[in-house]
Amino acid sequence: MVVVVGLVIAFVLVAVLSNRATRRCRWRRDIRQDRDSEIYWVCMNCGAVDWTRAEKAPNLCKLSTLEGK
Ligand SMILES: [Zn+2]
Repeated sequence: MVVVVGLVIAFVLVAVLSNRATRRCRWRRDIRQDRDSEIYWVCMNCGAVDWTRAEKAPNLCKLSTLEGK
């Protein structure tokens, strides 16, 4: 029983920690800012910008790095 409870707690901790960086981030694509073969993304929450080669939003919110300054 103790093992089961420990596993549940571990899963919850992993879920919370892995989502912390992304949960406040809302990436929006802006075609006008695209570079050659790179897609422009801007975060609606923290204003961070990033470019990716794949057509997929960045994983990390840069809000934490901006707040750290
Ligand atoms: Zn963000």
